[in-house]
Amino acid sequence: MFDCKLCSEACYTSYICVSCNRIKDMVNLYSRDVVISVLDECLVRNDIKRKYKIDKIKNSNDIKICTEKVKTETKDIKNHENLNKRCLKELKRKLDDIKEV
Ligand SMILES: [Zn+2]
Repeated sequence: MFDCKLCSEACYTSYICVSCNRIKDMVNLYSRDVVISVLDECLVRNDIKRKYKIDKIKNSNDIKICTEKVKTETKDIKNHENLNKRCLKELKRKLDDIKEV
């Protein structure tokens, strides 16, 4: 039993597994440079493709929903803080009233 030289998958009759042998056939058929070029073109993200992906994520509904949720929660926290401040003011005022009596 061998490990495929390309993908390390176990293979029994050769140093290259069946799947990697297909790649080897394509290299023989089209040339190594053409196969690498096609793989670069189809699989590797260049700057334009990365920017497209980032823009797509930024504009996705999930991000918008998440952003709105954070805004709402922030607003709730501020409202709660304001309520606490008002309660404290009211308590201080009542304490002052008690002291004067
Ligand atoms: Zn392989």
